[in-house]
Amino acid sequence: MISGGEKVELSKRQEQIIEIVKGNGPITGEHIADQLNLTRATLRPDLAILTMAGFLDARPRVGYFFTGKTGSELLTEKIRKYKVQEFQQIPIVVKESVSVYDAISTMFLEDVGTLFVVDDKSCLTGVLSRKDLLRASIGQQDLNTVPVHIIMTRMPNITVCRREDLLIDAAQKLITNQIDGLPVVKDTELGLEIVGRITKTTMTRVLVEITTDEQI
Ligand code: ADP
Repeated sequence: MISGGEKVELSKRQEQIIEIVKGNGPITGEHIADQLNLTRATLRPDLAILTMAGFLDARPRVGYFFTGKTGSELLTEKIRKYKVQEFQQIPIVVKESVSVYDAISTMFLEDVGTLFVVDDKSCLTGVLSRKDLLRASIGQQDLNTVPVHIIMTRMPNITVCRREDLLIDAAQKLITNQIDGLPVVKDTELGLEIVGRITKTTMTRVLVEITTDEQI
């Protein structure tokens, strides 16, 4: 379930209300109810849903008016409000000194495609992708003796995001930098602490959740 999201599937009556408000707005709840031969109390839940979903707006002592926004505009607005922290997943982290062999094992065991590398103070120093590990594996080195800090992509060349960032901005970074994942970081005195991860899989999950939970 997408947090903050309400399932919005308009009923016939709600469609009628929208039409009335479109044609007569601003219009009070009483007058809408009159036109439908219903009581104001009966309409209250419908008006609440339509207002919450953004189809209608209400001003005290003026009444309801149509916002003029289509379903897809409202959906776009909603997606643009998603924050990284609502969707971030747990980061999988290894130390700089672990061997390439152990990093490969971790990737399999944890079932992730990107590992983040940290120093002794648990601050972000690098990223390991599947291809980084594959590249190291087809060399002549002994994978048990090569530490990951030799082959990782390192700071300051790591693209990061923060919890309060917009999810859509994180998605843009994945596309622009042609990478599979971003560490979600927190600034500390010692460096960047890794608090989460955002990946292409996160974005796929969001897409599926939007279509199953949100029907605007
Ligand atoms: P793969 O290499 O498996 O296709 P990516 O596309 O994520 O996976 O990685 C491509 C390259 O970019 C790798 O060398 C990797 O170390 C690097 N990389 C991955 N994520 C980041 C990131 N967040 N910031 C900077 N470089 C990254």
